[in-house]
Order: sequence, then structure tokens, then C-alpha cells
Amino acid sequence: MAFPDASGRVGESLAYGGGVTPRVTEQPSVPDCRVLLAVPVDAAGTALLVDAAEHARIDQIRDHDTRRATLTAHALLRMALASQLGRRAASITLLRRCRTCGSDAHGAPHLGVAGLPAISLSHTDGLVAVAITDAARVGVDVESLRGVDVAALAGQVWGRGERRASRMGRSASLQGRDEFFAAWVAKEAVLKARGDGLAVPMTGIDVSRDRVDDPVAGTLDLTRFGTPTHAGCVAVPAGVRVDVGFADGELADAVRQAEERRDLSR
Ligand SMILES: [Zn+2]
Repeated sequence: MAFPDASGRVGESLAYGGGVTPRVTEQPSVPDCRVLLAVPVDAAGTALLVDAAEHARIDQIRDHDTRRATLTAHALLRMALASQLGRRAASITLLRRCRTCGSDAHGAPHLGVAGLPAISLSHTDGLVAVAITDAARVGVDVESLRGVDVAALAGQVWGRGERRASRMGRSASLQGRDEFFAAWVAKEAVLKARGDGLAVPMTGIDVSRDRVDDPVAGTLDLTRFGTPTHAGCVAVPAGVRVDVGFADGELADAVRQAEERRDLSR
């Protein structure tokens, strides 16, 4: 799939004739990865983008914010898949697999045996993220920059080398908190890209650089992103071009179209 990049390079090459020198668009030798972000919304029509079983499952979530974020994330995922697969969002069947226990009754969504496009989703207070790619694997994670006891959690997250390199001595500061979450989302993205059932401690994954050699997933590139209130990271196989952007408007359009279709079919 070809997502136009910021320079609009994709598609500009086909102006043949009229003395225009044809320019050959650089064809990336590896698939792209698109990361879509959105703020969780309460729009009732959002549920029209997910299938009935998924909606019923999400409806069971008691906490309102978690329910809203989960529904928004799944709607965003299906919207992205719908445009890539040329199908209606609610008609796409997603399977599940838990990376901790291997169960197919819960866990991360995927598209079955062929597994492509590879997908990953994440939601936190105030932000959801969906990653979609034709590369073999992907993991995305977002976290809100909330108040946590960084010093208490550091031992579970930072490896020894990272602890030395970081400013954990100033863990009470905002910088310490932001560094903690930057490392957290990067490690979580790697774990999601692995997708295996092994219980790997976060301390064993070194994210001090933007490239990670993982024994299971191979060499992964980390792309970090964020807002003043959130940290995020996506992990993809090395060399895959990543495009991160907010897709709130796209999602609102997809919901509106689904509402129109529903009204027509009444
Ligand atoms: Zn499980």
C-alpha cells in the first residue's frame, strides 16, 4: 500500500507527454506502515464500524473511558482495514490471540493465517493508536503521561545499562516521568511486534537506540511520536517507512457514511 508522504511524492510521476520529463517515483523496496491516531469519541455511530460480536464484547467493559477508547480504537482499525481491503468496516472478521497465554478467546486482534496486513492497536486515557502494514509484523503502544511512581516501577522497566544512562536519579521530575513513559511505550511496542507467548521482562529489551535486535522479531526500527500529554512508539521491521498522523476527521467521515448507509437501509 502506498501512503503519500508529506512531500506528496507518491503519484507525482505519471505526468507523461507535453514535454514533461517523466519522473520515476522512488518505489520503496519494503512495505509502508501507517499509524493512525485519534482522540476517543462518544459518537453513537462509531459502533456502526465494528461488527455485532465486537460491539457486544466492548459493551461489557464497565469503565466508561476504557469502553469509549476501546470502541474508538476498533472503529479506527476497521476503517483503515476497510480502505485497504476494499470491504465494509463491519464486515471484516478479526481473530484474536493472546501473546501471554496463546488463547484465541482474547488478546490482540489479527487477520487470520495469512495475517496480512499486520495490525496492532493501543488505547490509553485520551488517545488511541492503530498501526497497519504489509510488513511481517508491527507493534504500537501509546500511554498518557500520567502521574506514576517512577522510582517504584523503574526496576521492572529499565535494564541495568539503561538505568545508568538515564536520569533516574531525578525520577520525581517531569523529565524522569516522560523518559519513563518513552521507554515504556518503546518496550511495549517491541513486545507487541514479537507477538509470541514468551513472558519477556521489559528489562531485557534495550530501547536506548532506535534499532533493536530482537531474537524473535529480528531487527526492528522504533519510531517514537507523542503529544504534550501522550507518549507513543511503533516497532516495525528495519527499513519500513512509517507515517504517523491524526485521523480524527477520517474517522468522523467514516462514521457519517456508515450512518447514511444505515438510514438508507431502513
Ligand atoms: Zn491470555
